[in-house]
Amino acid sequence: MSGVTLGGVVKSYGELEVIHGIDLSVEEGEFCVFVGPSGCGKSTLLRMIAGLEETTGGEIRIGARDVTRLDPSERGVAMVFQTYALYPHMTVAQNMGFGLRMTGHPKAEVAAKVAEASRILKLDDYLARKPKALSGGQRQRVAIGRAIVRGPDVFLFDEPLSNLDAELRVEMRVELARLHQEIGATMIYVTHDQTEAMTLADKIVVLRAGKVEQVGAPMDLYRDPDNRFVAGFIGSPA
Ligand code: ADP
Ligand code: MG
Repeated sequence: MSGVTLGGVVKSYGELEVIHGIDLSVEEGEFCVFVGPSGCGKSTLLRMIAGLEETTGGEIRIGARDVTRLDPSERGVAMVFQTYALYPHMTVAQNMGFGLRMTGHPKAEVAAKVAEASRILKLDDYLARKPKALSGGQRQRVAIGRAIVRGPDVFLFDEPLSNLDAELRVEMRVELARLHQEIGATMIYVTHDQTEAMTLADKIVVLRAGKVEQVGAPMDLYRDPDNRFVAGFIGSPA
C-alpha cells in the first residue's frame, strides 16, 4: 500500500492553466476527500493521479515511486467514475474480472479475486446476472468491484454516487466506509456532498480555482475554517 504525494502539480490545457501548483500529501491508508465548486479542477487532479491526463508540471509520487510519466496501468491505481460503463453483454462476474483477464492473469486467480470482491460488496447472488438486470446501486457496486479485483494501492473515486437517488447514496456511503475499513487502501474521493465529505473523510482538501484553499480533518475544518469559502463548503456557520 502507498500514499500519494503531489509536488507543485500544474495542468494546462493549451494556453489555459487550470491547476496552479498543488502540493499535497495523502497518507497511506487515508480516506482523502476533494471538495470544491464545479470547474475548480477536482476531476483533472484525479485524472492526473490516475495517469489519464498528462501532468504539465511538478511531480506525482505513489509510495516511493515517481509515477508522473507512467502509464495508468503501471501506477497501481484504479478509478471509479460517476457513470459506470459496464459491458452489457457480460455477466457481473465477467465485468468484474475483465481487466485482470485481459492482462493475462490465470482464470483461477481471477475467479478468487472476483469472489472476494463480491463478498465485500454483497454481490454474491448477482454474479450471473447481466447489468440490465441490476439496480443503479448494484451497477455502481459492480464498478467498485471491478476496481477492487485489480487490487490497487490507491482507489480514485470521481463523484461515484452522484447518479444514485438519495436513499441509495446513504446506503452506498456506509458501504464505502466499510470497504475502506476492510481493505485499508488509500482512497481519494471527489464529491459535492457535504455529508459524504464529513462522514467518509480522514482528511478534506478544499479546492478553489485550481489551488488548495485549506486541508484538514473534517471537524477541524468545520470548527475552524480559514474563510467563508471553506465554511460554505464544510457547512459550518462562520
Ligand atoms: P471539476 O471536476 O472540479 O468540476 P474539472 O477538473 O473537470 O473540474 O475542470 C477544471 C477546469 O479545467 C475547468 O475550467 C474545465 O473547463 C477545464 N477543463 C477540463 N477538461 C478540459 C479539457 N479537456 N480541455 C480544456 N479544458 C478543460
Ligand atoms: Mg468533476
